[in-house]
Amino acid sequence: MNWYELSHEEVEKQTNSNINRGLTKEAYEKRLQQDGYNQLREGKKTPAFLMFFSQFKDFMVLVLLAATVLSAMLGEFLDATAIIIIVIINGVLGFIQEIKAEKSLAALRELSAPTANILRDGSWQSVSAKDIVVGDVIKVSSGDRVSADLRFFSTKGLYIEESALTGESVPVQKMSAAINGKDLPLGDQENMAFMGTMVTQGSGIGIVTGTGMNTEMGKIAHLIQSAETLLTPLQLRLEQLGKILIIISLALTVLVVGAGVYEGHDPYKMILSGVSLAVAAIPEGLPAIVTIALALGVQKMIRRRAIVRKLPSVETLGCTTVICSDKTGTLTQNKMTVTHLWSGGNTWHVTGSGYKAEGEFIKDNKEVKAENDQTLYQLLSYAVLCNNAELIDEKGKDEYTLNGDPTEGALLVSGLKAGITKESLLKEVDIIDEFPFDSTRKMMSVVVKTKTGEKFVVTKGAPDVLLNKCDFILWDKQRQLIKNKHTEKVKEAITTLGNQALRTMAIAYKPIKGTQELSNAGQAESRLTFIGLQGMIDPPRPEVRESIRDCQKAGIKTIMITGDHAITASAIARQLNILPHNGEVVEGSALSKMTEDELVSKAENIYVYARVSPEHKLKIVKALQKRGHVVAMTGDGVNDAPAIKSANIGIAMGNTGTDVAKEASSLVLSDDNFSTIRAAIEEGRNIYENIRKFIRYLLASNTGEILVMLFAMMLSLPLPLLPIQILWVNLVTDGLPAMALGVDQAEDDVMTRKPRKSDEGVFSRGLGWKIISRGFLIGLVTIGAFWIALKQNPDQLVQAQTIAFSTLVMAQLIHVFDCRSERSVLHRNPFENIYLVLAVLSSILLLLVVMYIPVLQPVFHTVPLTLRDWLLVIGMSAIPTFSLSGFQVFKDKKKSWGASPYSKI
Ligand code: ATP
Repeated sequence: MNWYELSHEEVEKQTNSNINRGLTKEAYEKRLQQDGYNQLREGKKTPAFLMFFSQFKDFMVLVLLAATVLSAMLGEFLDATAIIIIVIINGVLGFIQEIKAEKSLAALRELSAPTANILRDGSWQSVSAKDIVVGDVIKVSSGDRVSADLRFFSTKGLYIEESALTGESVPVQKMSAAINGKDLPLGDQENMAFMGTMVTQGSGIGIVTGTGMNTEMGKIAHLIQSAETLLTPLQLRLEQLGKILIIISLALTVLVVGAGVYEGHDPYKMILSGVSLAVAAIPEGLPAIVTIALALGVQKMIRRRAIVRKLPSVETLGCTTVICSDKTGTLTQNKMTVTHLWSGGNTWHVTGSGYKAEGEFIKDNKEVKAENDQTLYQLLSYAVLCNNAELIDEKGKDEYTLNGDPTEGALLVSGLKAGITKESLLKEVDIIDEFPFDSTRKMMSVVVKTKTGEKFVVTKGAPDVLLNKCDFILWDKQRQLIKNKHTEKVKEAITTLGNQALRTMAIAYKPIKGTQELSNAGQAESRLTFIGLQGMIDPPRPEVRESIRDCQKAGIKTIMITGDHAITASAIARQLNILPHNGEVVEGSALSKMTEDELVSKAENIYVYARVSPEHKLKIVKALQKRGHVVAMTGDGVNDAPAIKSANIGIAMGNTGTDVAKEASSLVLSDDNFSTIRAAIEEGRNIYENIRKFIRYLLASNTGEILVMLFAMMLSLPLPLLPIQILWVNLVTDGLPAMALGVDQAEDDVMTRKPRKSDEGVFSRGLGWKIISRGFLIGLVTIGAFWIALKQNPDQLVQAQTIAFSTLVMAQLIHVFDCRSERSVLHRNPFENIYLVLAVLSSILLLLVVMYIPVLQPVFHTVPLTLRDWLLVIGMSAIPTFSLSGFQVFKDKKKSWGASPYSKI
């Protein structure tokens, strides 16, 4: 059966549905049970047990296991068992980390899942696309990604881009009538829409004919399934770094083993020590911890209403130098109220606020009834006719709820204040055609037919644009040819309203003669008669001003990009502190004339782009990027997608954004609010800093471990650490404390630093030096403590080894607090990060356990330490952190207060 050949009735019959009511709840549930969710089957997942075993496939771990088995064969059972247990625990930890990372990523994917507008049980609702079943009535409109296969029952100027299926990138016009033909290719099935394709224009309603694997997309799903896991630039760099670190660790290990054997140590013992050292020194946990830090940070962002769609953008966020933000709804509240009306030189003030019907029209300090003023009535009622919003009277609420665009909502409310509703108007006239609003034309029109058969066009839109389409104007209640003096007056009114930060909407009309056909918007929107203006306030979001100031402090410039009038935009930009005194405002028309190079040279001083079309946004992004900026760009419509895609951080609106914009974006604001961008940038900076913190911690610790052994060989000392101790240190200190650093709180200066350079290396800003210096000192104090202990009791090697072991652990656990700050350990309250405190306490507890529980002493080759020993351990282990921190504080004091927080030490 071909769905495209069937009549509408036949489609309803086959799917057991009804185009006017949709499925009933019961029918839906039955279908869902039968067909399952509307999802493409995912590619094969790695089973958990394979993930577990993959923890042990690391070359060095295998070598360690082999060496351990060998030692068991040579009779060292206890050592061998302990080592194997530690390796297994390590593997389990790695496995848990990996599962957690995977789960967090899956949760993120779920969050950005698309929704669909469907009719069920007679009411329209928005549901998750996976809940759609065959028979559901679904509405698609411009910007939607089609969520299932469907057959149209009605379409309005509908175009769908089907390149995902057909390879044809030109959108196809859709219709609803049945088509005859055998085995038509998908591209010719013009009354069907297919899962995964994109609606570029218009809207349509249809019945779902296939879901999940039963869609056309499902048939080719295996071709497009690619397990795409994007690695962030830092992850890629760390991957390369990991390889280098393996080589360095192996080289040093070979050196240690070589030196040990040369010094006369037992070669077999040296090899086991060497292999343990290599296992400990290679930071195999790093990638998992990075993923966890990213994923946890991303979840924190979600709590602050920013949904990250592409993980790499978390890093880029911290590098952002410019935010290009839409005005309406992002910087402002998008809660519009008409406060002024203007027509033919007359101004009315409108009282009342919000979506309440109460309000009066005041002219020259006197109340005016709209029904007594023909022009006023026409201005109000035409704005209601040319309008797709709906005011819903919800029980228990003292004001209406708006369904639709707030600009249109404001016009409905101003009409309502004069008792005008769309229902009452539709008793007199019918709307027979519509040319929907688009932000390039900046207007919308309807064609209206009166009961007596007269037809006329009603247009509303951006006043300056609409004025150019008008040949006539209503002046002194007369329709007159528009003259310069009229145009001047209208422009004056637009400026006056704009200066008060009001968004203005113009209303115009055109009578249609006889059978004149209007086949496109261009024909309808010409030779119009200008009626007047409605000016509405759209207050700035209260929190935005502060967010903009925070961004300025953080070295990030905010640019307003809006379709609104330059004067209105500038007034709001001034209120929000976006536009400085000498800052420039550029209009879309001027922007079109500028060459790219001109824009590049001017861009630095432009703060507001007004009356722009979505296409301009791309030009702006390119110019800013050419100037070396890392650009965040917001958008919501289909046409915004190219700019969102090319920006370093593409940001889509969660509420008002289309699927197309969301899919092109790397960040979605679930509340459409500018302040959320600021919060996301702060989190982005913090996540990166946290990753730096544990890289610093892990690598300094590992450096310390290797150097202890190397120093011992160089000084012809006995082995300061035994293999099992090295592995224990690796397990305990690399695990929990490192993870706790990954969720550390931001430093207080995180939003007063300049943005990070996007090409910055892992070890920049002094990190490499910090790792080497701290690592060196950790190694030095450990060998120092060992040496002192041996000096005092030359025949107590086990005691000296226990002291070395404890000093190494304690030095690392103190150093972990130092890693929390780019400046010094003294700059932060150590109890702020409770996870870290708990992680450190549990590590200390584990140290005491292996030292004081008698059965574990022979396993870990430890003896209980005395108070004197402990004083030595603690005194020595505090040195690496506090000596350098003290030095840093001394240096800071000497410098003026504006000193860079990134000074090297
Ligand atoms: P932003 O500041 O986010 O760019 P905007 O609403 O000003 O938002 P657009 O949506 O592109 O930008 O609108 C451009 C202009 O078109 C508006 O300034 C307004 O004059 C006009 N306009 C907006 N909505 C409608 C509508 N529903 N019908 C007619 N004209 C509209």
